[in-house]
Amino acid sequence: MGYDRNNVFAKILRGEIPCERVYEDEAVLAFKDINPKAPIHVLVIPKGAYSSFIDFSIRGSSEEVATFFSTVGKIVEQLRLHENGFRMVVNSGPDSGEEVPHFHVHLMSGKRLGAMA
Ligand code: AMP
Repeated sequence: MGYDRNNVFAKILRGEIPCERVYEDEAVLAFKDINPKAPIHVLVIPKGAYSSFIDFSIRGSSEEVATFFSTVGKIVEQLRLHENGFRMVVNSGPDSGEEVPHFHVHLMSGKRLGAMA
């Protein structure tokens, strides 16, 4: 499970391309999706070099994985997404349509999202 250091989120983490940041700490970055599928569409990524959810779950330490998901919860609270509801999506691998090979969680909210495909 190699990691492509030239993927777009790696470039965002290195500051080579900009993003609209909504949260950052030493381990996690959250920013607005450039092509939003909902009025609120935020991507949350670990700063470590993990290509997909399965890569993160296998190679990340238990502490890293737990901290990441509790931080996702903190971001949900900070953005108040829990008040009207939100959708959390992870694409992983070719059949999911994952475009960017750096593990990321989508948070979508701001309207009735309708059924999943
Ligand atoms: P996925 O299909 O799960 O890999 O999702 C990748 C997401 O990254 C898509 O929703 C894209 O719109 C988003 N995206 C791609 N490039 C950027 C960028 N430079 N800044 C913010 N979001 C991006």
